[in-house]
Amino acid sequence: MDSVLTARLARQRQNQRYRQRATTSGIGPRFQRQGREMLAFCSNDYLGLAGDPRLAEALAKGARRFGTGGGASHLVCGHGEAHERLERRLARLTGYPRALLFSSGYQANLGVISTLLGRGDVALHDRLNHASLLDATRLAGARLERFAHRSADDCAERLASLAGQRRALVVSDGVFSMDGDVADLDPLVAQCERQRAWLMIDDAHGLGVLGEEGGGTRQAQGIAPERIAATVGTLGKALGTQGAFVAGSEALIEALIQFSRPYIYTTSLSPALAWATLTSLDIVRDEPERRAHLSSLVRRFRHEVSSLSEFDLHLMPSETPIQPLVVGPSWRRAPGERGGNEAAALALTAALQEAGLWCSAIRPPTVPEGTSRLRFTLSAVHTHDDLDRLLSGLFEAARRLSRTGRSV
Ligand SMILES: *Cc1c(COP(=O)(O)O)cnc(C)c1O
Repeated sequence: MDSVLTARLARQRQNQRYRQRATTSGIGPRFQRQGREMLAFCSNDYLGLAGDPRLAEALAKGARRFGTGGGASHLVCGHGEAHERLERRLARLTGYPRALLFSSGYQANLGVISTLLGRGDVALHDRLNHASLLDATRLAGARLERFAHRSADDCAERLASLAGQRRALVVSDGVFSMDGDVADLDPLVAQCERQRAWLMIDDAHGLGVLGEEGGGTRQAQGIAPERIAATVGTLGKALGTQGAFVAGSEALIEALIQFSRPYIYTTSLSPALAWATLTSLDIVRDEPERRAHLSSLVRRFRHEVSSLSEFDLHLMPSETPIQPLVVGPSWRRAPGERGGNEAAALALTAALQEAGLWCSAIRPPTVPEGTSRLRFTLSAVHTHDDLDRLLSGLFEAARRLSRTGRSV
């Protein structure tokens, strides 16, 4: 076995796709990494709650009161008071009658799609949907089709071509994780209603961040909850803990409890974490200034970084804390270089790291060829001084590398 795997690993290295984990210590966004202080702009801790001492306190209290582990699945004896309270609060936050906890977003997506669809059914995905939604479709045995990114019209055409012969579930991210843009829900909802398709929104990056009360993409766009059959949210991003949930109607939640194998055959989420997440929800409700500060960081980042287009580095149209900067074609190191700019994205990221700034380089196959990018994520724990550091590091790296890049 090992020789087969070693050959496969070697190919991965050859293709410059070999990935390594960086071990950090400390609490984000200020990490120590290999003895060096790093300021991170790559986590999904959008409200800065993952390091909030109030959550640490609540987690410890929850552990003393309910234990660290759920001990069993929800249907045996693993469904405790903390889970029950959290489900009610999540339902209220998202505007649905009920919510159901899962241990991760990956699992929640698998749980919903495999319960709603089977062989012969179709899941119609936005082209840029998260990998977990695509995997869930394959594991459900349903047919996977895609529509053009954010295009309700293309979605409608594809639905029409199914001519109502198959059960169809339309699936879209709320906020798209690699581009940072947002689904246009109103036309999408209207098309699904017209053609009697079900609609599911994965709002992992919108929950807690978008909407007046942090209720997510749906709330931000003023769509009534009953018009979206299932909404998935995660606890590990803006809410700063771990786990996920599905929100929907009474019937949807009961069906998941009865039929969803990824719900039934797994140990319940840690009750201590469920308890701590209640404190996250208090903070989401009581401290809207976190969302306001985050928006002001996003606006300033966009305003200042827009002038990097002079160096052929381009902001994407995103108003969310996910801010990709695409490396343009003039950064190509060699005429034959695949995609034109993968090496430059890596070089820019490395230069930022030298300056103690941590962002991720996103390359194919995660994004299409030719759209390699630096992906920055902003958080309410970043200060304007942190942003100053990032901006000066970024301009400095662009100035320095674009010269060497072009002279090659
Ligand atoms: C992060 C993410 C998930 C997975 O959630 P986990 O709780 O981390 O497993 C699912 N969907 C989207 C869109 C995500 O960004």
